[in-house]
Amino acid sequence: SVMQRCLSRQQETSGLNSFVTVLRHAAEKEAAVAGRHSVMKGPLHGIPIAVKDNFCTAGVRTTASSRMLANFVPPYSATAVSRLEASGAIVVGKTNMDEFGMGSATLFSHFGKTINPWSQAAEKGDKPRLAAGGSSGGSAVAVATGSALAALGSDTGGSVRQPAAFCGLVGLKPTYGRVSRHGLIAYASSLDCPGVLTRTVADAALVLDVVAGRDPLDSTCLEQPHRPCFDRTMEAAASSRAAGLAVSLRGLKVGIPAEFAIQELEGSAVTAWEEGARLLRDAGADVLPVSVPSIPLALPTYFVIACAEASSNLARYDGIRFGFRGSKSLRASRSKEGIGSADTEEDDQRALHDFITASRSQGFGDEVQRRVISGCRVLSAQAYATYYEKALAARIRLRREMNTALSHVDVLLTPVTPTGPFPLTTPAEPAALMVNDVMTVPASLAGLPAIAVPVDLAPSSFVPGLPVPVGLQLIGRHLCEQQLLIVARALE
Ligand code: GLN
Repeated sequence: SVMQRCLSRQQETSGLNSFVTVLRHAAEKEAAVAGRHSVMKGPLHGIPIAVKDNFCTAGVRTTASSRMLANFVPPYSATAVSRLEASGAIVVGKTNMDEFGMGSATLFSHFGKTINPWSQAAEKGDKPRLAAGGSSGGSAVAVATGSALAALGSDTGGSVRQPAAFCGLVGLKPTYGRVSRHGLIAYASSLDCPGVLTRTVADAALVLDVVAGRDPLDSTCLEQPHRPCFDRTMEAAASSRAAGLAVSLRGLKVGIPAEFAIQELEGSAVTAWEEGARLLRDAGADVLPVSVPSIPLALPTYFVIACAEASSNLARYDGIRFGFRGSKSLRASRSKEGIGSADTEEDDQRALHDFITASRSQGFGDEVQRRVISGCRVLSAQAYATYYEKALAARIRLRREMNTALSHVDVLLTPVTPTGPFPLTTPAEPAALMVNDVMTVPASLAGLPAIAVPVDLAPSSFVPGLPVPVGLQLIGRHLCEQQLLIVARALE
């Protein structure tokens, strides 16, 4: 069965470290589902799915790849997960990620790095291993290796689209609020979006239809009902085929935002971008230049807002309410003085402070600590007006400019990342990794739907002679996932 094939692929590729937790009972679950339901439970009946380890799964450890949550077993499932299960999907495991979603390479995980399957060919010559991308790198590798047919990821600033591009997959980040965040462990709440990674655009449409739609458990989840995309996407393709085209885009306008043509863009990305524009033109679309002047502000704006929200969201991990407890326990530091001895209030406060400090210093990795500290800083009285307030204003300006561009054209076409998959080594300067997000953060800040589509293979600029996937990004209008998916099919 497809389940058995996925489970054996999972075992064969375990060296790539894509799973934090493997659910070995998935096969029995599938047999039970098959036995009990002679009729299909739903559109994903019996389909093996991988879930990023920041989505809560009832009774199954959910770590966000952090030591802080290494033993956390949630009593409930995220809405996206329950909807997948209700439609018949079977979760085969929880996938590795950058701790709390903070990173672009699945490098900052308490459970070790995830390796891009495309770099396996390079290993023979003792070449560097390449990054699978991040933070949903484990989800990408699970789908790329055939260990699951689709995966749930989360995208705050590119974490679904960038690993999809690095592994040769489709990665869809829906409109903010299209899919419920209930049960998704928070990183930056105003940006966090559940998304899907699949092999094809049609698969992404199918999974989106299952998980999308309003949810009373998430007040930021949009009220608008989700009009199913899958049937329409397939129909559009069928009627174009009858007209002799892969997909007909007659009457559609595609914008090429000039500001994405940055200096860091490598040659293969430029070539793919031009080729993509040609494909869309051949399918009947009008391709024209557009401008989003604030693009150069997107990256700093994103990091100020993401770190600020993270510092607030992660304050709940104090070692007291739940999660990891630092070794310097409250009781130990108190008993030094002897319980019942005349502890002053100040001693108590110091003990509590030391305990929380120990829990956080030991429970959070370096990258998370860096971001929490930066976030606290930009929210402090001294820095609020200089950083946080400016970032909020820049976000509004960027959103307005993107919506204006999208009032002239239907979709924007851009590269996903400036370079292909890079070597999996910790950079000397942590900010170096952040540059990789320059193409993906604008849609996140504007809350717009965006999709990464694999379009080509090109020689890696990091490992000579090694072919690696190249992806392109389409950004759509607010809530226009259906149109985005139809255009994406023309690039496949
Ligand atoms: N790489 C970006 C960051 O580190 C985006 C991560 C994400 O989308 N979760 O914040």
